[in-house]
Amino acid sequence: MPCLMAPSLECAPSLNPRKLGRCIRCDRQVPQSTSDRDSAYEAKFLREVSARAERRFGLATGGFQQAVDRRLALGQQRYGDSYMAKAPAARALDILEEAWDAAAYALLDVQKRLANETDDTAVWHLFEIAQHAAAIDSHARSLRSCDS
Ligand SMILES: [Zn+2]
Repeated sequence: MPCLMAPSLECAPSLNPRKLGRCIRCDRQVPQSTSDRDSAYEAKFLREVSARAERRFGLATGGFQQAVDRRLALGQQRYGDSYMAKAPAARALDILEEAWDAAAYALLDVQKRLANETDDTAVWHLFEIAQHAAAIDSHARSLRSCDS
């Protein structure tokens, strides 16, 4: 339902417990969610992803699940359920763009650090980030071909 305060946007339910179910902008009662989201499944999925990433890459992933939860809550607040309704191809493009951004940020930061002759550890982490972004790119392109 279009928001009374911002008609180009959908009403977005507040996360504030005192305003539960009411729009963050116009304070109108937001209709019950039609989302296919399942919070138990989401928690299990993110725990499994963290555990596998730790085993596969030998990295600590503490805080990852909480960070993703915060991003999901922010997305829900800003866009309501519209993101869930997004076409799979459009969602794959979102993933691709985030991966390209990560690689671009890493590349820019590497150059700045190399110019300032900082330690190699930061540059190594940035190179790893860019490699993982390239892997995300490959998986997201494959995902797109699954839906075409
Ligand atoms: Zn509203």
